[in-house]
Amino acid sequence: MLIEKDFENIISKLETEIKKILPKGNVADYIPELSKINPDKFGVSISTIDGLHFGTGDFDENFSLQSIAKVFSLTMVYGALGEKIWNRVGVEPSGNPFNSLVQLEYEKGVPRNPFINAGALVICDYLFDIFENPEIELLNFVRKISGNSNINFNLKVAESESANGYRNKALINLMKSFGNINNDIDKILDLYFKMCSIEMSCKDLSHTFLLYSNHGELIQTGEKLLTVSQTKRLNSVMQTCGFYDESGEFTFKVGLPGKSGVGGGIAAIHPGKYSVAVWSPLLNEKGNSYLGMKILEFITTKFEKSIF
Ligand code: GLU
Repeated sequence: MLIEKDFENIISKLETEIKKILPKGNVADYIPELSKINPDKFGVSISTIDGLHFGTGDFDENFSLQSIAKVFSLTMVYGALGEKIWNRVGVEPSGNPFNSLVQLEYEKGVPRNPFINAGALVICDYLFDIFENPEIELLNFVRKISGNSNINFNLKVAESESANGYRNKALINLMKSFGNINNDIDKILDLYFKMCSIEMSCKDLSHTFLLYSNHGELIQTGEKLLTVSQTKRLNSVMQTCGFYDESGEFTFKVGLPGKSGVGGGIAAIHPGKYSVAVWSPLLNEKGNSYLGMKILEFITTKFEKSIF
């Protein structure tokens, strides 16, 4: 079990370590609104299963979750529909960029996994099968699991992505042509862009991800949102597919299941122990936060806190 002293030690060493690393990379400018972010922003937050929290830098400042939010919609859909969801979306790493069209054509409109864009669009389609108003349900769900009723979409970011979201539009149309989309394409895209625009701080994010450290049970209320087996499976998909076409490298260096987003955030968990969120907007060529990955590698290597 992590004790308070471990945490203090990690955070203070991190503060020194960060100064030694020169962040490299680029902010995600294919969503124009995201390119306005200050590239020097940086935050780390760690939450333990037994209620401790430590943070440093801009850990209390909101940022755009982007693909990290795909974990929350998957949790809702998996919890509601169970194993049948895997008939329309797979659980294999794609080995291709997250917005690639090529593989989807070969594989007849069935996305490789729920974290590439095509897979997340299928999950959003499921939300329309389940709920009359999925937008409100999604927001309420994220507010519930984060314990923060102020969590919201950033509509400027959503609109900015929608205005430039040609590839996501192509992906969903291609899947529709293969019969793997049931509901209205424009409504699904609207929900998807809003979902990606959800903002949270590192502090909220590490707190929220405790759900996956805690075997699918909400720590605040004891509510079971996923079974132990479902949580195992979701965490496994995060491990193998959560870091774009760099999931192998991430596992090799960091050794935790998690999910990253092009907003520069990464959330990761150690089952039964802790969760960690980092944010630094400069992305490496694969789309993962450059500094975020370095910090997580530092935490799990130096302090022997990986799952392996
Ligand atoms: N909204 C982004 C997109 O669809 C999410 C990408 C990401 O964070 O991986 O391109």
